[in-house]
Amino acid sequence: MKTPFNLATVTLSLLLASGTCLAAKVDARRLAAVETNAADAGNWLSHGRTYGEQRYSPLDKINDHNVDKLGLAWQFKYDLDRVVEATPLVVDGVLYTTGAYSMVYALDATNGKLLWKYDPKVWRGIQGTGCCDAANRGVAYWNGKVYVGVYDGRLEALDAKTGKKAWSVDTVIDHDRNYTISGAPRVVKGKVIIGNGGAEFGVRGYVTAYDAETGKQAWRFFTVPGDPAKGDESDTIAMIRKTWFGDQYWVQGGGGTAWNAFSYDPELDLLYIGVGNGSYWNYRMRSEGKGDNLFLSSIVAVKPDTGKYVWHYQTTPGDAWDYTATQDIIVATLPIDGKPRKVVMQAPKNGFFYVLDAATGQFISAEKFGSIVTWAKGIDKATGRPIFDPEAADYWTKNEPKLVFPGSQGAHNWHPMSFSPKTGLVYIPQHVSAEHFNPNIERRAPSKGTPNLGVQIPIVPEDKAGLDELAKLFTGKLQAWDPVQQKEIWSVPYPMMSNGGTLATAGNLVFQGTTHGQVRAYAADTGKQLWATDVSSGVVAGPISYSVKGEQYVAFNVGWGGAFPITFGAVAERARVVPDSRLYVFKLDGKTPMPPVRRRDMTPPKPPEMTAGNDAVQAGSKLFGSHCAACHGLSAISANIIPDLRYLNQDKHVQFQDIVRGSHSHLGMPPFGGKLSLEDVENIRAYLVKRAHDLKAELLGQ
Ligand code: CA
Repeated sequence: MKTPFNLATVTLSLLLASGTCLAAKVDARRLAAVETNAADAGNWLSHGRTYGEQRYSPLDKINDHNVDKLGLAWQFKYDLDRVVEATPLVVDGVLYTTGAYSMVYALDATNGKLLWKYDPKVWRGIQGTGCCDAANRGVAYWNGKVYVGVYDGRLEALDAKTGKKAWSVDTVIDHDRNYTISGAPRVVKGKVIIGNGGAEFGVRGYVTAYDAETGKQAWRFFTVPGDPAKGDESDTIAMIRKTWFGDQYWVQGGGGTAWNAFSYDPELDLLYIGVGNGSYWNYRMRSEGKGDNLFLSSIVAVKPDTGKYVWHYQTTPGDAWDYTATQDIIVATLPIDGKPRKVVMQAPKNGFFYVLDAATGQFISAEKFGSIVTWAKGIDKATGRPIFDPEAADYWTKNEPKLVFPGSQGAHNWHPMSFSPKTGLVYIPQHVSAEHFNPNIERRAPSKGTPNLGVQIPIVPEDKAGLDELAKLFTGKLQAWDPVQQKEIWSVPYPMMSNGGTLATAGNLVFQGTTHGQVRAYAADTGKQLWATDVSSGVVAGPISYSVKGEQYVAFNVGWGGAFPITFGAVAERARVVPDSRLYVFKLDGKTPMPPVRRRDMTPPKPPEMTAGNDAVQAGSKLFGSHCAACHGLSAISANIIPDLRYLNQDKHVQFQDIVRGSHSHLGMPPFGGKLSLEDVENIRAYLVKRAHDLKAELLGQ
């Protein structure tokens, strides 16, 4: 379809271009009508474009016949070459996006000119208190304000014209715990909805709604029960407490953080919340290995005015594998048994694709979309419950380590999927991942800045042959899934996991970026690759399409990072991409030159002599695994987004004790002062010297 000429939009764009911009009014009616309102066809007003988060653009000027003519319209370089997970918004010619550490940017959507930026000044040393990198997945827009969830737990409202702060609230209920925000807020009926992350460290999950104009708290919905001595906050909490056992879950926090997925159906007036994994991961430590542990790994529907519970569906009862249901939730109308039915769809980490009734949560169907899924044999069609395979996945009853598929990265993570009403297909950025769950570890109290999983942090092989085997496990694919027939229609294999989110368009196209530094377009009906362009960094974010003055654009946020590349550097470094964070915007016949494409060059490191003994190296290896690996990579193999410590130079070796104690916290290195003795730190350094010699020998072929 053609975007109709819209005088108001053009006038607004001219005003913006002249610098006297007006903030457009985006309200409940406009957001609810995005799917049918032709005037908004060129806009991307909320995180998943529509409240149902289909990530489908009705624009078709760029289509399967001409997509090979895409060229760069403009590009924008971020201040920091760190992870970019944001889905940009486009509101009447202005593009709003975020970079690492929750920095917000407003750009002219036609040429990338910076209109304003906002830095919430997150303390860089905070890094160690959160899982999964300094990520932010974007802003919300409502009635002339832009909303950002800040990494340290603030929720802030900015004037959309100027970027000036209108209000700021602290969403964190306990600063002794590791609450963070990486997700994009959503605004529903004048309320800003936000959840937190932190389940790997021991927190209690909740979702909070704030008045969009004032920041006043409207309601809070806890996803798991808290300290029983303090009483249940509601009948819902009393109900879910019956599914938990022992006295440890609330001490640890229980988990259930809602750090990513929210969608809304205006007709049913239901807000859908995607709830995260258990804390501890270890089910025996958390709940004596008993009970469903609601609302872990569930989709929960609540009323957006009050936060009152309506229904839930639990994808993984008694989660023990970090199987969050925080993956995006798509609302759509599908032909079920020959009749149109409004459903919610999710492809959570656990590897099954779910279709549920949107009004009631009733189970409709679920099948394995994951290429390797071992924890359950299927989903019982009568009960909607998984057919668990204890042989494959129960590591807690007998304290037996198990290799389970998917691993904690899931068969799909937050990288958003899309749905095309035209093809009826869902486009899933699938992962293949595995995890060695080893429960042989002592219980300990949660402490700020250290993950507390109740399983051992895995050690990856340190030799090349072992790593080659490991890399074979962590693959991916773009998968076109028919949600009615519950089967794959086509797929495109990728050599590595953690490829970017997807966008479907009316031009019969699917767009996706890759871990190996490419942005691509495929035919939505057949999967044929129609266009690709190299970029320097890996892509994790979901692309968008928008139009201004009749010109259609496709925008890719590019910036490698997130849990997989920083923790699993041993695999991710093989992508050979470099840190280079940019927003690339393409249009037909775009003539702007692409920035030069770079790839990581592995030259042998020049480490100091090995002087420490084997005991020191072994002790250092263990300490590195529990304190350093989450950012600098398991077995000290880094994809070099956060420095690869095998390449530490002589000066850094001399300063090593000071760096670990906080001298580089302004650059993002958290202070570990109280936790590690002088000897501990020296042992970690000895381990790094050993790993540098290993790499040098490997690269020199010795
Ligand atoms: Ca998790």
